[in-house]
Amino acid sequence: MTKRVFNFSAGPGVLPLDVLKEAQEDFLSYKGHGLNVMEMSHRSKVYDDIFNSAKEDLRKLLDINDNYEILFLQGGATLQFSMVALNLMTKNKKADYILTGGWSKKAVKEAKRVGAVNVAGTSEEANFNFIPKQEDLKLDPEADYVHFTSNNTLYGTAWKTEPEVGNVPLVCDTSSDMLSRKIDVNKYALIYAGAQKNMGPAGTALVIIRKDMLERSSDELHTYLNYQVHVNGKSMYNTPATYTVYMMGLVYKWLLNNGGLDAMYKKNVEKANLLYDAIDNSNGFYKGHAKVEDRSLMNVCFNLETPELEKEFVEGSIEKGMLNLKGHRSVGGIRASIYNAFPTEGVEALVEYMNEFKNKH
Ligand code: PMP
Repeated sequence: MTKRVFNFSAGPGVLPLDVLKEAQEDFLSYKGHGLNVMEMSHRSKVYDDIFNSAKEDLRKLLDINDNYEILFLQGGATLQFSMVALNLMTKNKKADYILTGGWSKKAVKEAKRVGAVNVAGTSEEANFNFIPKQEDLKLDPEADYVHFTSNNTLYGTAWKTEPEVGNVPLVCDTSSDMLSRKIDVNKYALIYAGAQKNMGPAGTALVIIRKDMLERSSDELHTYLNYQVHVNGKSMYNTPATYTVYMMGLVYKWLLNNGGLDAMYKKNVEKANLLYDAIDNSNGFYKGHAKVEDRSLMNVCFNLETPELEKEFVEGSIEKGMLNLKGHRSVGGIRASIYNAFPTEGVEALVEYMNEFKNKH
């Protein structure tokens, strides 16, 4: 089968076709070197160039200056829930967490093992259908850091701008909207994201850490959990996920060659608007989960009148070559994940199907 489906997966997600083709060209012999990237020593010159150009291209995409280190680590975003707390909650042993979904809940769970967690704001009482307002946040100026999740993959909500936290270091899990828009990295002490949505295949967590934060990493920590160790080892304290980082590098080049993050953001807004308009113009047949002002551009979550109708909707979509539209079990319903690489034609096909399905019922 060579025909590609429209893959609405929340992650691992769709990759740019150009990137897949380039990887295919490199598959048996990377740029004439006679071997696949997977077969290379991570200490070789060829691979070193691949690794370093991925970092450089990321610096260009996000204007990351020399105050920051870039790490490609393993253990996914999930290990960062622990590493952030273990490395950074070392001054006053307390941190603020803004709880906006299932993933921030998991981050809180790990942080509680390390120190005192203050939930500075939450939307849990409303099944996470909104982002708390700045004036409702109960931030502690003595906190070691404030942690938030920029895009809530399961509930389809997103922060439009960072919370204001004064001088307290800001930490963000950007797993599901990394590189979907420009962000000002200078506002952050640490940013982390799993690769497998907007950046590449699974296997790597990207960590961008401001250098002054490294002073907090204690020598008492287990070696592998210490950010300073990974900085010293240039993300190669042990064997990195070599192929994933190669693929991430191809994705970064693809973004740079296609207008960078501003162009990507514009396209993401257009795609998301097509779906939200279809929801809003359905006379209540489709009900969006997120409050309108907090809607995500990446994960569009909505419900139908009954679970039976939702099941029929998903079954019908599969017949039309649209995969992975079933919502996460915590919200039910439908979730359309439309990451950077997801084509506009796929969104248009879904809108057409939504209208057809509504008319039929
Ligand atoms: N944070 C967010 C916002 C996520 O969507 C996910 C799921 N991919 C994770 C963390 C966990 O990521 P991983 O599977 O890479 O550990």
